[in-house]
Amino acid sequence: SCFCQVSGDLDDCSCDVETIDSFNERLLPQLQVLLEEDYFRFYKVNLNQVCPFWGVSGLCGLKDCAVKLCSPNQVPEGIRSSSQDQFSAEVNECERTEDLGAVDVSLSDETREVLLDWSEHGDGEKRFCVVDDDESPDSQYVDLLLNPERFTGYRGPESWRIWTSIYEENCSSPFSIDPRFSSSSRCAYSSTGKVFYSWLEGQCVEKRAFYRLISGLHASISIHLSARYLLEDRWFQRQWGHNVSEFRRRFDSALTGGEGPERLRSLYFLFLVELRALAKALPVVQRPSFRLFTGRPEEDRRLKELLLHVLQLARSFPLHFDETSLFTGDEQEAATLKEDVRRAFLNISRVMDCVGCFRCRLWGKLQTQGLGTSLKILFSERQIEAPPLSRGQRPRFRLGRQEVVSLLNAFGRVSTSISELKTFRALLAEEM
Ligand code: FAD
Repeated sequence: SCFCQVSGDLDDCSCDVETIDSFNERLLPQLQVLLEEDYFRFYKVNLNQVCPFWGVSGLCGLKDCAVKLCSPNQVPEGIRSSSQDQFSAEVNECERTEDLGAVDVSLSDETREVLLDWSEHGDGEKRFCVVDDDESPDSQYVDLLLNPERFTGYRGPESWRIWTSIYEENCSSPFSIDPRFSSSSRCAYSSTGKVFYSWLEGQCVEKRAFYRLISGLHASISIHLSARYLLEDRWFQRQWGHNVSEFRRRFDSALTGGEGPERLRSLYFLFLVELRALAKALPVVQRPSFRLFTGRPEEDRRLKELLLHVLQLARSFPLHFDETSLFTGDEQEAATLKEDVRRAFLNISRVMDCVGCFRCRLWGKLQTQGLGTSLKILFSERQIEAPPLSRGQRPRFRLGRQEVVSLLNAFGRVSTSISELKTFRALLAEEM
């Protein structure tokens, strides 16, 4: 089964998984280098937002759910001071003298890159995810390398309730983990894989895409927790590693009623969508005015080179996801559908504040923000014309620091999951 060149029909594709796997093997090492840089490892997040949907009956209290927060002096001064405003101010300063150049057209058969023009609609309005208030005293820096995504022990009705409500955002889905934890009565449910996948077949391509993205995220989290599982827990020794039976329980076709392979297909789909967003972000980052602000111009330039290298590699992938096949047809209907999908993603990012395990909440928030940023890049209310901006005008499309950091880290998670699949395949083969 394959996932490339996903067009009108998400399940109709014409290249194999091996193409993605071997491409990912080249990409991941470059990505890892980037993600170890201070700019990308320090992520500012508010883990204390109140769940807006239901009362969270206390945090889970599990040892591995804890998050180590940074003390202020751990975060380099330049990064601490690179608030969104400063970032934009920096950009504006440069924009006065630089022509942004044409928006790159070669990725799309259509007229132009589909990049967003958020600034003209009000920045908050068209996001696909809720972004924490950077300035809130509750927002704190976290060193992602010191808080890896791994098995925490968070499970049971609480976590199912989160997953259920996330899938419910794709309303009219017959999917439900357990109707008792269904957070709304909007959707009619029946479960089981067969019913579900035949339901999915009948849905419009956008709904299937939505489902695939969430299912891909879910699969990625399951792979990470299986790959960094707590294998041994004695007071003097804690050993983390691959847990093959946990992986099999979640993905083996026979043990999941045939659903496991579908979940992995969704993971590849998510990979292709985020990869496409990276490729499309290239012209934005290529602007001379685009800057990763660290407070040291030399460092800014070096980092930008590293980022450009990753984006260029992303762009070199020959078989990209074709987002122009989504939201086509009747203009009014397409606009309504797009708005529905955007709102659903906004709600999903809010649901992350209901996750009762801090470590899971951290990575859940980061990955939904990264996915939201990908969608922000991919889908625009309007196609941006090549912008020879006049002096002093703000760039038409901007990405804030949090968006850049979450975009790259979220993709790093999916890319790592795909790489972990190779390890699990080898371990499974050994077992045989
Ligand atoms: P779950 O993974 O909870 O899945 C519930 C049901 O959903 C399954 O029975 C199946 O019917 C269906 N399902 C499973 N996978 C898919 C898929 N890919 N696509 C479609 N349907 C699917 N735990 C950790 O140990 N570490 C973490 O970092 C972590 N992060 C989390 C982040 C979030 C946002 C959430 C909601 C949970 C997180 N968890 C984490 C918990 C973890 O996802 C599981 O809920 C938990 O391990 C219990 O797993 P489970 O076997 O009950 O099935």
